[in-house]
Amino acid sequence: MSTVEPRRAAVSLSNGVEMPLLGLGVWQIADGRQTENAVTWALEAGYRHVDTAQLYGNEPAVGRAIRASGLPRTEVFVTTKLQPRARRPARAVDESLGRLGMDHVDLFLIHWPTRAAVEQWAALEHAYDQGLARAIGVSNWGAHDLDDVVARGRIPPHVDQVQFSPFQFRRALLAHCHELQITLEGYSPLTRGRSLEDPTVMRVAQEHGRTPAQVVLRWAIERDVAVIPKSTHRERIVENAEIFDFQLAPDAIATLDALDRTGGTAEAR
Ligand code: NDP
Repeated sequence: MSTVEPRRAAVSLSNGVEMPLLGLGVWQIADGRQTENAVTWALEAGYRHVDTAQLYGNEPAVGRAIRASGLPRTEVFVTTKLQPRARRPARAVDESLGRLGMDHVDLFLIHWPTRAAVEQWAALEHAYDQGLARAIGVSNWGAHDLDDVVARGRIPPHVDQVQFSPFQFRRALLAHCHELQITLEGYSPLTRGRSLEDPTVMRVAQEHGRTPAQVVLRWAIERDVAVIPKSTHRERIVENAEIFDFQLAPDAIATLDALDRTGGTAEAR
């Protein structure tokens, strides 16, 4: 397989918007210099996708780093997420755009389902109609939540962002998303760093001459599941991007599949 630059590898959402398969997640990175550095290093390493949220408190630094990169706004896919307790979701959308210093985001998600989901979804539909978000979606929604929003909403979600790794292989949820033409996106794809020393992961990594982090990220990419690994370290940000110049052998994929601890659930949590 030839080397593909991270920026070129993407999945098409149901509305035709292209979402890069690799993004930088910025949860638990402090607003200000730490987030600016991480986003800058990621863009230099070829990432063209950044995943933030209202609750992460670092939308301003994400916006500043993207502007400072000099890249055209159209080159970088930006996701943010609505804080589910936001009382006035339409206003909260505008406030995110203000903090990011952008006139639109590429993807606006509801961070997790609550009783206010119907009202919040209507606000995101409105934002989509107005061009404030090129795509809209949900996060931490299981199969039943997805069925509900599809039945009650006007626009089906384009994305469901859920925890996804070989250890959280939500096989039934992935299949359900496929049926509904909703793109599943994987968060905590590195298991928050907790299972990278698992002996099976380490063996597969050794067999492929790669690092454990690269192997678990590649496992998701092999399924066209976008991944948003987080790191504050430049060398790891670069390492996590080097996943487009190799493939996992089919038996290695099956071995990693078997690490699942969710029972192949259709639930998101
Ligand atoms: P990840 O699975 O991305 O793991 C991050 C951890 O792994 C950090 O401790 C990091 O440390 C470490 N790490 C990164 N790269 C490497 C490497 N190459 N080798 C070894 N360790 C490494 O966890 P997150 O939970 O942060 O998930 C990623 C993103 O997903 C979040 O930042 C956020 O954007 C999104 N997310 C969304 C959620 C939602 O509810 N929608 C919930 C959780 C996450 P260090 O930084 O020190 O390098």
